[in-house]
Amino acid sequence: MTLKLGWIGLGNMGQPMVTRLLQAGFDVTVYNRTRAKAEAFVEQGAKVANSPQELAEQVDTVITMVADGATLEEVLYGESGVIHGVRAGQTVIDMSTVGPEPVRFAAEAFLQRGVKFLEAPVSGSVGPAKEGTLVILVGGEEQAYEQHKPVFDVLGKASFHFGESGQGAQAKLAINLLLGVVLQGLSEALVLGSKAGLDRETLLRAIGVTACAAPIVLGKTPSILAGEYPAAFSLKHMEKDFGLALDEAKKVEAALPATSAAHQTYVAAKANGLGDQDIMAVLAHLERMSGLK
Ligand code: NAP
Repeated sequence: MTLKLGWIGLGNMGQPMVTRLLQAGFDVTVYNRTRAKAEAFVEQGAKVANSPQELAEQVDTVITMVADGATLEEVLYGESGVIHGVRAGQTVIDMSTVGPEPVRFAAEAFLQRGVKFLEAPVSGSVGPAKEGTLVILVGGEEQAYEQHKPVFDVLGKASFHFGESGQGAQAKLAINLLLGVVLQGLSEALVLGSKAGLDRETLLRAIGVTACAAPIVLGKTPSILAGEYPAAFSLKHMEKDFGLALDEAKKVEAALPATSAAHQTYVAAKANGLGDQDIMAVLAHLERMSGLK
């Protein structure tokens, strides 16, 4: 039987992910706070629900891809939230990055209604979301993971079941702190280069053939050279994820000195108006700190 899917959250990530599911032939109903973004999917074959509750009443599996923990709380447990529309036997999957606590809470809350809950946050930004090459990090019951593998296979090039609820979320935080620290490192290398009078394009070309040439470094090169940072993964979301990683580190007694320092940089960049720009705008912030334009 083909699963009827309900999708909540049509932001930078949700939009390309839903397009892929529709193109793969899934029956998808969508809900988004800003309704116009949901209506835009009707011509691709989606149905539109008026609320998260109504959406849950119409589908087998609800998937959420929203900004943060507060938003997840709102769409799951708010006045017309998902929890008021579910019935036993359904599954709810959160693909946002919210950390382990909200997903453990949700797993418990939905279990009491006979509903399974998985967290399945993703690594990869808008490009991989369009191409279906995300990496999906799953926590929750293994059988529910296996049942939804066909969905994950449309969205990602790989999915990993880490174990019980919260463990997919923990894996996501570990991977994202690496992303944020790497891009701060790249930015500092470029700032040093510029202050020393090196040609930026040549320096980037050189970095691009060293052992430090991660795909993310190569992928950000055009936007660095243009000095323009339209959001694929917004800087404010990276700052959120650093905060979640450090909360988790405190709980499990993990010392993360570089993460703490990088978090402060992203806090300052956000406070200086760069939150809605792409994560790579951390470079613009570090340039200002060093008196570069
Ligand atoms: P986004 O573009 O900021 O979209 C956020 C979504 O949440 C939108 O659908 C927005 O609705 C909705 N939302 C925000 N506040 C809401 C509220 N109070 N009530 C109801 N809905 C609300 O975010 P994104 O880039 O798609 O990222 C989504 C999640 O994936 C985040 O947790 C992010 O950390 C994670 N993630 C992002 C990337 C990336 O590269 N972008 C990569 C991996 C993981 P409106 O349309 O009405 O604003």
